[in-house]
Amino acid sequence: MIKMPAISRNVHGELDAQSKFSNIRVAVRVRPLLAEEKLDGSDAVVHVINGSSLKVLEGAEGEIRTRHFKFDCCIGPAEGQQSTMEKCGIFQMLDAALEGYSAAVIAYGQTGSGKTYTMLGKEETLPDNHKCSSHSDPDDGVMPRSIRYLFTRIEQRSACRRGGTTSGSRGSFTQPQASRSTTMQASFLEVYNEQVNDLLRLSSIPKVLRWSKSEGFFADGLLMVECESMEDAISVMLEGARNRKVGSHELNKDSSRSHSMMTIHIQSSHIQPDGQCLCKRGKVSFVDLAGSERLNRTKSEGMMLKESSNINRSLLTFGKVVSCLSNNRKNGDVYVPYRESKLTKLLMDTVGGNGLTLLITCCSPSPMSFSAHCCCHVALRLLNKTNEIGRRRRK
Ligand code: ADP
Repeated sequence: MIKMPAISRNVHGELDAQSKFSNIRVAVRVRPLLAEEKLDGSDAVVHVINGSSLKVLEGAEGEIRTRHFKFDCCIGPAEGQQSTMEKCGIFQMLDAALEGYSAAVIAYGQTGSGKTYTMLGKEETLPDNHKCSSHSDPDDGVMPRSIRYLFTRIEQRSACRRGGTTSGSRGSFTQPQASRSTTMQASFLEVYNEQVNDLLRLSSIPKVLRWSKSEGFFADGLLMVECESMEDAISVMLEGARNRKVGSHELNKDSSRSHSMMTIHIQSSHIQPDGQCLCKRGKVSFVDLAGSERLNRTKSEGMMLKESSNINRSLLTFGKVVSCLSNNRKNGDVYVPYRESKLTKLLMDTVGGNGLTLLITCCSPSPMSFSAHCCCHVALRLLNKTNEIGRRRRK
């Protein structure tokens, strides 16, 4: 089991677990107030107090109530993308994926709360102006930063191998080096209306999910792009992001109505000095969930209503899966409803297995948005559950 960065929790009454690590961790990221939200002079109602706690101001003037919440990690509006990577332990997750583990970074929250910014970066600048290897933009999100990190780590490893010369008291000598090669493939899909579509090869035929013992659920025939360089992987990311379906929506015209998932599959083979070959297959998935807004608020009708129910179904099932996993009985004895939605089928081996999952709950600090309270409550419920999982796995 991989030890994640130690983040202690000491929660106000509701949570009392002192978790050193858990396979599922919950972070909350509060974005800054946007210019248009500042126009009417409103102040933020969500404030990050420190790295693991935040407060939400609730109620109307005169009777404002302050509620405190504790999470594995809290990221405030002034904190940038690099800080998010570091505080959430994403680099450690990527190292784990390189060592053969499954990892998933999942962004959750209402439309406009900062999911896409967190995962991808600033959408308007990304597709045309992205210079991936020579230059990193401060707005680059988890995905481009992770791609850069993975390729840099692989490059560092091979540089180490090439320069494997050590100085000793008897002069320089070359150590016997194990030979290692790492290959990466990337795929990018969306779950839209409970249909799995390939975002790299658009066709009207949805992908069928199949199951194999080694891979768990996978989308049959999904395009896997061989990524020999950072640029290859960034191109896959940009192509998938461009093709992602968006629907018009009353809350936000660009509201994303699909769950998107880019997965980087990493295979390393390691020829040891004794000639034996060790093969490791890890992967990391980046999931940008559809907006978590409530159905009645979006005034959805017809097709949009169907979309919204399907989106809710995946999110609801995701919550149920986490809840079931936290059941104190042994995993094998518990029915976990992975099969009730495409999203949870695809995440099954990471969330339910020995993988590492990070849920970043994105949150608007605006008093006009109810996402602050909703997201905190949802995230808190998930955290309660994941505390249970963490406790059980440590036993
Ligand atoms: P979502 O994907 O949840 O619908 P977006 O990622 O599109 O939300 O964010 C909404 C707006 O807020 C965008 O203009 C985005 O650039 C901005 N934004 C979100 N999070 C941050 C942040 N942490 N710092 C600066 N701007 C942000």
